[in-house]
Amino acid sequence: MAVALIVAAGRGERLGSGRPKALVTLAGRPMLEWSVAALRAVAAIERIIVALPPGELDAAPPEAEAVEGGDVRSQSVREALCASGGGDPVVVHDAARPLAPPELFERALDELLRSGADAAIAAARVSDTIKEAGEDGLTVARTLERRRLWAVQTPQVFRRAALERAFASASDELLATATDDALLIERLGGTVRIVESRPENIKVTTPADLHVAELLLAERVR
Ligand code: C5P
Repeated sequence: MAVALIVAAGRGERLGSGRPKALVTLAGRPMLEWSVAALRAVAAIERIIVALPPGELDAAPPEAEAVEGGDVRSQSVREALCASGGGDPVVVHDAARPLAPPELFERALDELLRSGADAAIAAARVSDTIKEAGEDGLTVARTLERRRLWAVQTPQVFRRAALERAFASASDELLATATDDALLIERLGGTVRIVESRPENIKVTTPADLHVAELLLAERVR
């Protein structure tokens, strides 16, 4: 059976609410609880482990087990992975993405098993044209081919052995700069499949994101 790891240990400084971001109230409940509710609706998931900031372990809802997170996101994933003990596949999800629906978790798990890949990750097609800057950071070096670009989200689902191997071989420096977990698989030559998701599965970072998420969730509740 699968195990889900929700990382919720960020301080959320860019949100400026004075609370850890995952615990800010969103459409009537703490942000974290939207992800727990979505994962509870996925039959394949047996356990949910939540990485929380030190001193906030009581904030885990009763359906989830709490573990202390680390200084950076990847360390929080590693802590939750160690605490999970067993369970395969492993679903990793950011509490900062409260709009991920149960069917997205299910499609990611289905794709992992169907493809035999090491990982399957939710991602949305890019609608903007993306350019890469050169050394000075502000002079355009090239324009990337948009039809091949994907904006990566969570959930990301993994074969447990592949994720454990990836974390075991990653240095602390790499973990401090890795912005997602699939990167750790890619660098070992593992296969990562894309599962198309909607752009609405936003990551709440700024007060404007919080407002958009509130509107979308309130609409869903109605
Ligand atoms: O900061 P950012 O929004 O990129 O964080 C993505 C997710 O990682 C959030 O759900 C956040 O709570 C989590 N995180 C964590 N431990 C950290 C930093 C971030 O669990 N040290």
